Amino acid sequence: MQQEQPIVNASFPQAILHIDGDAFFTSVEQSMHPHLKGRPVVSGKERGIIACASYEAKALGIKRGVGLWEARKICPDLVVLPSDYESYSIYSKRMFEIMRRYTPAVEEYSIDEGFADITGLRRLHHMSYPDIAKKIQETICKELDLTVSVGLSLSKGLCKIASDYRKPHGFTAVRGRHIHLFLQRIPLEEVWGFGRNTVALLQKHGLHTAYDFVLRPSTWAQKMLGKPGLEIWHELRGVNLLPVTPNPKPANVCIGKGKTFTTPSADKEFVYAKLVRNVESAFIKLRRHKQRTKEIHVSLRFKDYNQLGLGARLNRATDSTQEVLPMVRELFEKVFRPGHEYRTTQIWLTRLESAESTQFDLFDDRLKIERFDRLAKTIDEINARFGKHKVCAGTALQIRDTPATARTELPWRKQNLLPGETDRQRLYLPRLNLKI
Ligand SMILES: [Mg+2]
Repeated sequence: MQQEQPIVNASFPQAILHIDGDAFFTSVEQSMHPHLKGRPVVSGKERGIIACASYEAKALGIKRGVGLWEARKICPDLVVLPSDYESYSIYSKRMFEIMRRYTPAVEEYSIDEGFADITGLRRLHHMSYPDIAKKIQETICKELDLTVSVGLSLSKGLCKIASDYRKPHGFTAVRGRHIHLFLQRIPLEEVWGFGRNTVALLQKHGLHTAYDFVLRPSTWAQKMLGKPGLEIWHELRGVNLLPVTPNPKPANVCIGKGKTFTTPSADKEFVYAKLVRNVESAFIKLRRHKQRTKEIHVSLRFKDYNQLGLGARLNRATDSTQEVLPMVRELFEKVFRPGHEYRTTQIWLTRLESAESTQFDLFDDRLKIERFDRLAKTIDEINARFGKHKVCAGTALQIRDTPATARTELPWRKQNLLPGETDRQRLYLPRLNLKI
């Protein structure tokens, strides 16, 4: 046994949490469709490869990345679902909202993983740090009907390993004075930030566990692995070097929309209509984020994957589809080559600025701008009620709407919609049943 001297003598000089959803996508499906609980469920039907496997499926050896065909061979009863990212992201938002009830310092690390800094909040919640962490875990479980695994420790690097230590529905708290015991059980492969090459390098120097690594002097860690390695060395010793950074979504730097059509086409008006559809989608996103663009780029990709594009700078920022369409047409005319077959159209909006901060020139036609603004707002409202692209440019008549994927590969809530109903209205959210 190696030396048993604690690295840190206190319990929680700072308290950082890592929360990780267990088999998140399939857990959301099981929460939305309780009859799937206890059954082997996988998502990813639309791609033919498993994106997520429930614990029941994992128990049979079915993992993420495995082909569906192979998985069905292992388990003929496998429930195979198309991915429904809209629902997953709503559950994700609600998970982070629950975390934010306890602390404003929440960092959304991925759709199903987040860090939270709860240092100094014991008195506010009248609870110990492990109790706060457990309370968050319990609340997520109760309100969303899905389980998460929680790691509590002194640094992001430590709690990330801790949340993975027991899964699913695990809870692992690593106090400062127990760090040295915990690290002795952690193989190098499980250290956050160590890739395969790093592990191989450290193993060549006779290291096996995370504890072996932190016993080396910091100068050795820096010499071997540079600054990132030194950071990990400190993090593993309980020094919180990488602060939890709450992330208000950074403003978009650019917005791009592009779609590939299944059969390449040389039909000029069809290709243009596809481009306009992308322009509309890009501008819907632009307006939703309350931004305007000052530069647009149009790009067309030939059947052989070569592409040709052209951009234009505008004299003022705009968020109006109608206003830019004449320019889009002009760019399109310059780029389109008759007699060639195309497979993709793309639009990029760059030089974005916040809609609130847009300055108008004295000579701008304010009336015209306001008219465009009102038009865009009305179209957005109608489309929000009746479905995206219900009101759109007349060019869209060139597009015969064929769904990109077969009916059976769409999530159930996108199938057989009633007139006037949108699939968003069908987003299933857990509800409480209350007696009055
Ligand atoms: Mg996860």
